[in-house]
Amino acid sequence: MKLEGQVALITGAGRAGKGIGRAIALRLAGEGAKIVIVDYVAEAAEAVAKEVEQMGGEALALQANVADASDVERMVQAAVDRFSKIDILINNAGITRDNLLVRMSEAEWDAVLDTNLKGVFNCTKAVAKLMMRQRTGKIVNMSSVMGIVGNVGQANYSASKGGVIAFTKSVAKELGSRGINVNAVAPGFIQTAMTEEMPEDARKGIEDRIPLRRLGTPEDVAEVVLFLCSDASSYITGQVIAVDGGLAM
Ligand code: NAD
Repeated sequence: MKLEGQVALITGAGRAGKGIGRAIALRLAGEGAKIVIVDYVAEAAEAVAKEVEQMGGEALALQANVADASDVERMVQAAVDRFSKIDILINNAGITRDNLLVRMSEAEWDAVLDTNLKGVFNCTKAVAKLMMRQRTGKIVNMSSVMGIVGNVGQANYSASKGGVIAFTKSVAKELGSRGINVNAVAPGFIQTAMTEEMPEDARKGIEDRIPLRRLGTPEDVAEVVLFLCSDASSYITGQVIAVDGGLAM
């Protein structure tokens, strides 16, 4: 097992359906990590914690809003009270509020930036303090290929995800000397509740643009996250790995 004895905190991991965070939680638990599942929705976090326990793993479900710094401090304290440390942080919580620029409200802009970018800042700051004392740690931030190439109707989302990439590189430079690796993953189109709602022809149009001719799965993303959390990637930091079937080349 690659993560035996390690503690991983994953934000936005509570979608009991097909979310990326849930897939990461189950994959890391399968490698022996104890999992802290954080979600805005308490029942969704508890449902995934039960799944981890059913696999024979250990999990703690916590309700928190990553956009709220005091909520994040409380969440990190609760995780440490239970497991004494945090070795791995996965900043996965993210939302969309799509609209064309001229129709986009200030509320739509703020909601996306608050969760997707400020949330990453809040969680990284709180957990990095522990990791710096431990002189070891792995941080993986969920960006998106839209943060690299941009997308119509997603100025807020793309800006937040591009911001996550710049944040990742800055923090990787700051924390490298403390033995902390900080990387980002940029998924393309992944089969989740969001893409399932898409009409068949829109989905087919997307598949035709992807060199590997299929949407990704949450498990495709989880596998790369596992790599970035394991010793196999110990000399990798400040990188952005696209998991997009070649879409954003
Ligand atoms: P999802 O909507 O299925 O799950 C996100 C989870 O985050 C939900 O359970 C939600 O309750 C939680 N959440 C939202 N706001 C929160 C907050 N403020 N505090 C705590 N939890 C909060 O999303 P997903 O499709 O699994 O995406 C996961 C991540 O991957 C996101 O950052 C998303 O931007 C990114 N991503 C997804 C895709 C895709 O195709 N699905 C592509 C690229 C990037």
